[in-house]
Amino acid sequence: MDNSDILTRHEDAITEITTDAKFTPWINGKQYLPDQDVTIETIDPAVTLPITAIPACDSGDVDAAVKAAGDAYDREWAATLPAERATMLRKWVNVLRDHEDELTRLECLDTGKPIEQARGEVRAAFDTLDYYASLCRTINGDQIAASEDLHAYTRKEPFGVVGQIIPWNFPIWSLTWKLGPALATGNTSVLKPAQDAPLTAIRATQLSKNIFPDGVINVVPGTGSDVGNALTSHRDVRKVSFTGSRKVGELVMQNAANHIAPVTLELGSKSPFLVFPDANLSKVAQAIADGIYYSSGEICDAFSRTIVHKDICEEFLDAFLAAADEYTCGDPLDEDTTMGPLTTEDQYESVQEYISLGKKEGSNLVYGGGTPAESLEHGWYVEPTVFTDVDNDMRIACEEIFGPVQTIQTFDSYEQGIDLANDTRYGLSAGIGTKDISLAHRAAADLEAGIVYVNDYGPILPEAPYGGFKESGIGNDLGEESLNHYLQTKSVYMNLEDPTR
Ligand code: NAD
Repeated sequence: MDNSDILTRHEDAITEITTDAKFTPWINGKQYLPDQDVTIETIDPAVTLPITAIPACDSGDVDAAVKAAGDAYDREWAATLPAERATMLRKWVNVLRDHEDELTRLECLDTGKPIEQARGEVRAAFDTLDYYASLCRTINGDQIAASEDLHAYTRKEPFGVVGQIIPWNFPIWSLTWKLGPALATGNTSVLKPAQDAPLTAIRATQLSKNIFPDGVINVVPGTGSDVGNALTSHRDVRKVSFTGSRKVGELVMQNAANHIAPVTLELGSKSPFLVFPDANLSKVAQAIADGIYYSSGEICDAFSRTIVHKDICEEFLDAFLAAADEYTCGDPLDEDTTMGPLTTEDQYESVQEYISLGKKEGSNLVYGGGTPAESLEHGWYVEPTVFTDVDNDMRIACEEIFGPVQTIQTFDSYEQGIDLANDTRYGLSAGIGTKDISLAHRAAADLEAGIVYVNDYGPILPEAPYGGFKESGIGNDLGEESLNHYLQTKSVYMNLEDPTR
């Protein structure tokens, strides 16, 4: 397919998904038009054509959304029974499932993800909501042993209105990581999608109409400096959950600190993968390639630092380059495309700068580093890239690149490998390649990361907590554990005039 064919195909796909669709903020159970006449334009990164322009909210609209969420909580949501919330969440999942193809195409065009990956994430999003529907009825307090005339127990109570912010790299999946536990625990939400890829968050919310009471879910698209800032500083937002960069995470925490709102932060990383001499090299190379080239490397837990035992370095490199070769840039709308463009122009430029920097810092570019075939010249594509001869103090080895760029270093002893892996301010994930079970357990304990994969990248299960150590974040999304981030505990002491025994 040549360049003009791809352009025509995307123009047609954009027309198809935008005709009859209206992407606007969603407040109090309906489409909402802000007073200000400012829009944010979303771009299809494979061809850099605009998809649609969305009316952008400002701080006044955030006030309206927080009020709608607060009213919904006071009016009826706080009094819903867990079984009722479970039923509503399940109804929503069923409606979303009826729109799987539409949501998949939207995610593909808005982010540039290959359609097969977009479909997998859309299905994972449904599964996440389904999981939280199943947890609604498990939220209980404890009875506390006390004296004969004292009954003491705890209640788990929602915060009320929670403010949630998601990034552009996994839009619909992140939406469900936030809304699933927030709604299951009885909170109402005001959620800000990323301005670069907000379409599936908006569409999925529209599909919740008449399922949840008005005001339970509100979506406020807009810029981070305006809407994100207003939401995290709002005194009526009693809990903040943010997924995004470390830099913005710090600002979010400062804003929330001003009104002592607890925060959950899911931030970036620079995740290491340690390859030991006994590893099954082709299996481990494949896992690491998936961990850096899936979603064009725009993954928070990307395995961007491979640290290989020096005795097997050459053999590993051959296996890794073979695995990297399986990732070929192509049209995201093609079912067999394994790698799409980067989602935003800023990200494309930033990754190009890091590739130039890697060369200047003295590392060795052994694979990729350029842009692919002419037929893809309109998109923000970067080839799978590999640097060797990398030191831990080079910027390409310590800063999050958030693109398809792998760095390979070597280690000599177990201790040196662990030290190199842990020598980072981040700690979201880490990988281990070995067939030795004892070694795997030892390294899993010694690595400073919230998620450890042995001989694998993924899967991410909704049942398993997901969160980072060190500067990769605070708290967890997913798992039963995330419910606690949306609940506060009340201890009740009840004096019994007439003891029960
Ligand atoms: P970002 O921090 O630039 O933006 C994230 C969100 O925050 C967006 O919605 C943005 O509009 C908003 N925002 C920006 N400025 C803000 C402000 N001052 N106040 C409040 N909100 C503001 O991140 P990004 O570029 O969208 O996403 C990429 C980053 O997200 C990477 O660092 C990646 O590792 C991280 N991430 C982490 C996880 C995780 O689970 N740990 C998952 C996905 C992405």
